[in-house]
Amino acid sequence: MSPRIPKRMAGCPVHGGLAVPEVAARHSDERRPPLFGINHPGRVNTCLMEKRCGGCAQPLSTRPGGKYTLLLRPADFTRGYSSEPALHTSDCAPYATEACPLLNGRMSSYRTTRRDLEAERCGQPTCDCRLWTNSDDHGARAGATASPFYAAIYRAGDYRPHWGDVRQHRNVLLGVAVAGVEPLSIRLVTRGEPSFLDFTRALIMDLPLD
Ligand SMILES: [Zn+2]
Ligand SMILES: [Zn+2]
Repeated sequence: MSPRIPKRMAGCPVHGGLAVPEVAARHSDERRPPLFGINHPGRVNTCLMEKRCGGCAQPLSTRPGGKYTLLLRPADFTRGYSSEPALHTSDCAPYATEACPLLNGRMSSYRTTRRDLEAERCGQPTCDCRLWTNSDDHGARAGATASPFYAAIYRAGDYRPHWGDVRQHRNVLLGVAVAGVEPLSIRLVTRGEPSFLDFTRALIMDLPLD
């Protein structure tokens, strides 16, 4: 059974019983299946810049006492940022951990074959799928073991976008900063199949292993 869609995500399209998160790539024709698990860079950037939730697209809390949640792999802690936008702590983050097969433990590893995004183009000239390309990152992920995931809750006032250099490009918006930000709590949500490197990262970053 699909998990209950939280009220906050009521505006999201629904596919196969699952709410499509704001960041997911999709065709302009909503009857076509969205690409769960493949982020649309423009959508991600808007969420990061405007401090919006990557699930429902609504603003994250900015009031004192407000919180946001990041779903992080050990590698995200060591490199110091999350490339995924933050989520609402009380509803969108728990929904993601129940609905996403990478997070709910129902998928033990990434797809073993490379996903051919170029083959998924629908051919409509106005749909932004005409820009989808098969990036190196998708290729590198194919067949990789499933990393553990943590839900880390942070104070709203600590939110900082993370900028960095990517190859020849300077000061690119890469995500939400994790380095130097003290979380209110960290919980292991998916044990996954941690690699030796993941174990090492978890030990270095003092992350719970169960
Ligand atoms: Zn399309
Ligand atoms: Zn949300």
